[in-house]
Amino acid sequence: MTSSTDLNLPLFERAKAVIPGGVNSPVRAFKAVGGTPRFVKRAQGAYFWDANDQRFIDYIGSWGPMILGHGHPAVLEAVQKAAVEGFSFGAPTEREVELAEEILSLVPSMEMVRLVSSGTEAGMSAIRLARGATGRSKFIKFEGCYHGHADALLVKAGSGLATFGNATSAGVPAEVVQHTLVLEYNNVAQLEEAFALHGKELACVMIEPIAGNMNLVRASVPFMRRCRELCTEYGALLVLDEVMTGFRVALGSAQSVYARNIPGFKPDITVLGKVIGGGMPLAAFGGPRAIMEHLAPLGAVYQAGTLSGNPVATACGLATLREIRKPGFFDALSATTRSLVDGLAAAAAAEGVPFSADCEGGMFGFFLLPALPQNYAQVLKTDSTRFNTLFHGLLDRGVYIAPALYEAGFVSGAHTASDIEATVTAAREVFKILSKE
Ligand SMILES: *Cc1c(COP(=O)(O)O)cnc(C)c1O
Repeated sequence: MTSSTDLNLPLFERAKAVIPGGVNSPVRAFKAVGGTPRFVKRAQGAYFWDANDQRFIDYIGSWGPMILGHGHPAVLEAVQKAAVEGFSFGAPTEREVELAEEILSLVPSMEMVRLVSSGTEAGMSAIRLARGATGRSKFIKFEGCYHGHADALLVKAGSGLATFGNATSAGVPAEVVQHTLVLEYNNVAQLEEAFALHGKELACVMIEPIAGNMNLVRASVPFMRRCRELCTEYGALLVLDEVMTGFRVALGSAQSVYARNIPGFKPDITVLGKVIGGGMPLAAFGGPRAIMEHLAPLGAVYQAGTLSGNPVATACGLATLREIRKPGFFDALSATTRSLVDGLAAAAAAEGVPFSADCEGGMFGFFLLPALPQNYAQVLKTDSTRFNTLFHGLLDRGVYIAPALYEAGFVSGAHTASDIEATVTAAREVFKILSKE
């Protein structure tokens, strides 16, 4: 598509005049990969169409929520019906109770849940709850994990375990991140050292169990087991941020995947988002009754929201969860995702391109690296120029993956075997180009 006929270009110019960077969330701007973002006109099933009416096979799915694909008839019907009944009341509804019951029935570590509107809000509230419930201020997070953009979470590691984090964003005062300790993902020895130094002052450890914000890097079983054991030993809470993995990697979320290898494994607080809204602004956090009862109006930890439990969003989330819990949904989704990852690996191998990939349920990640990275520093070893060649090569061939190498990918129930085949064929052509560079 030459720039003179690319209808995305004038839209991007207009957008940049009125919205900072032309986008309402930074990664959409294509800053890492260069070029013009595709402005989406409409979407259906596994595809969306841009301003040029070019069709793309969508492997972002709104960064995870669209697990059924776009415009699923049951979800559409539920949303249309809810919209007619009313957009928002600021008073309780039966549907909020239904969604809460649905979530709790699928994630047994949670006895109560509070609904909010974004993953950021849920993550921020979970930290406040952990601090309020333990009466402690400090907490641990891991380099490369993203938990939303609350001030205390925009932190990178300080120099050594005694020094706490440094803010990664302007506008975040040093005092606000002074209680955030940032550690290396999958580093058991460092985790043990940090607990030995600060364990009695820690409110919680917050972690993405299968991290999807440094591409895809899963916490090793020994690492997750040690997180659980140390939290229990020192009276800190284990907060699993399942905003991305919740109802995406398995019906029971990532915690059910770890429970297969760690008997009785449970987090103290679970943070959810993305899939539970089915594409509408909806997120949640929950845990055992004794912890959740610290929240207002029962307890002293304040948390509120004008649009929390929104009737249209809850209708969308509920309809989505009811579809994915149907027998066979996750088996089929996992098989589709696996066939994509295997197909890409075979295509890369055929062209002699170093490649590694991983997937769980409907979430995948791949790297132009010979072996799967275990932490953020290893993810950073990816050659970004080669990634950009891959990204634009796929985009030109109608395949839309995340426009940054730090992002996971998503397959939906609407992706067919022929979508996967077309994607692998496109990828092989681009791998051929990469093999000659
Ligand atoms: C997307 C995401 C968030 C933030 O959710 P928003 O709805 O974008 O605020 C938090 N944690 C994780 C793991 C996420 O993937």
